[in-house]
Amino acid sequence: MAIDTVVTTEFEIVIGLEVHSQLLTRSKMFCSCSTDYAYAAPNTHVCPICMGMPGVLPVINQQAVAYTIMTALALNCEIPQYSKFDRKNYPYPDLMKGYQISQYDIPLSKNGYLNIEHNGQTKRVGITRVHLEEDTARLLHFDGYSLVDINRSGTPLMEIVSEPDMRSPEEARLYMQKLREILVYLGVSSGRMEEGSLRCDANISVRPKGQKELGVKTEIKNMNSFRSVERALTYEAQRQIELLRSGHPIHQETRGWVETRGITVSQRSKEYAHDYRYFPEPDLPPLLISSDWVEELRRQLPELPDARRIRYMRDYGLSAQDANVLTEDKALGDYFEQVLAVSHRKGLKDRARAAANLVLNDVVRLLKSNSLSVSENPLSPSASANLLDLLEKERITGKQAKDVLEEAFASGKMPEVIVKEKGIEPPISDQSALEQIVEEVITNNSKAVHDYQSGKTNALQALIGQVMKQTRGQAKADSVRKILVEKLDTTTN
Ligand SMILES: [Zn+2]
Repeated sequence: MAIDTVVTTEFEIVIGLEVHSQLLTRSKMFCSCSTDYAYAAPNTHVCPICMGMPGVLPVINQQAVAYTIMTALALNCEIPQYSKFDRKNYPYPDLMKGYQISQYDIPLSKNGYLNIEHNGQTKRVGITRVHLEEDTARLLHFDGYSLVDINRSGTPLMEIVSEPDMRSPEEARLYMQKLREILVYLGVSSGRMEEGSLRCDANISVRPKGQKELGVKTEIKNMNSFRSVERALTYEAQRQIELLRSGHPIHQETRGWVETRGITVSQRSKEYAHDYRYFPEPDLPPLLISSDWVEELRRQLPELPDARRIRYMRDYGLSAQDANVLTEDKALGDYFEQVLAVSHRKGLKDRARAAANLVLNDVVRLLKSNSLSVSENPLSPSASANLLDLLEKERITGKQAKDVLEEAFASGKMPEVIVKEKGIEPPISDQSALEQIVEEVITNNSKAVHDYQSGKTNALQALIGQVMKQTRGQAKADSVRKILVEKLDTTTN
């Protein structure tokens, strides 16, 4: 079965996502253990509270509550004045207390939305709620036995639940990508799906087009990348459609995505909410959220990706495509702005376009070929700006700029220093000197000249190459072309 697309005219696909994000707080949700356990030995970031010892008392992490409210505000949610924590009871070996502290009927926020762009149109996806809970320990399975690492237990975990508003696996992926952008801009999440600090579960059902009632849904887990979200949901939609077409029932259940096989498999039949026996957490006071604090957090919100994208198009005159790529990765957009801030080129829009071209074409290419992320970029913003200034002053040609940039990338030196050290001469701007070289080339390459004049236009490229060689790359290719064409069209063989 092809799982890259799902095409159906008879059925409608209905998808809602539950996204969990670890929060970038220094300490855990209910104790003072450090959350910086990624490279630590197992069970070294633990205390009686996150190990679930009897008789201990949890204390609420205020920063985690602040991050959750900031996220909720960025997702246009209402923040009720009163909220509380509840116990979600279920037995599982990775759950140290035998229950998880979560939020049930009065979450920190509700009724928001997030806009995604799809096929040139803006689509609004409802956000049911954003709430706060704690992460579980981690189980490591070996041959015949399992070990538990409690370091992760009690890490603040924010859950963002969407309405079942998405109508295709592609929309689900776009939602996930947009949500991740927002979380990273807010600085509340690392956004790393591959490391499990950002996780996505999906509820998916299909129904005959026009039917109001929702179909039986399944919950899909284990999707560890944007691509797997789209592939898993495409597979599952297709599976459900085939069951309905052949008259078989769909069972409400949890299914796991198996990336290597490209299929979902049944994991367990779905527990119902009442199985969790939620009740208010007796060890924690209710949360009273003052409107003053909410307003203070609202003022602290950074510029979000949509606003930045619009600003890039409006103030800098960038194309939608360029503005998109620059804002998808916050670090890349930040770098672009830093280059812009220290570049001296005249005219804001010209400066912005030059900086965007350099960043999107050359810097991104160099980062990719060296397998570096934007945060590991060895090219300082002033080095990039310096290169742009050298180009604007016509101190180097475009071709030389590429070489200088590569050297600056490798050595960390400023472009102007490299130009000096390598003894790169300024481009030949003396028109008569250039004309003289062009004439010599025409005289010495009569075959290419003849070819060009008899209609073989690619012969021009060979002649341009000859002139560039004679000038050791110090002529500007467009002026060479212009002079060559003029002379070739007026001389006869
Ligand atoms: Zn602890």
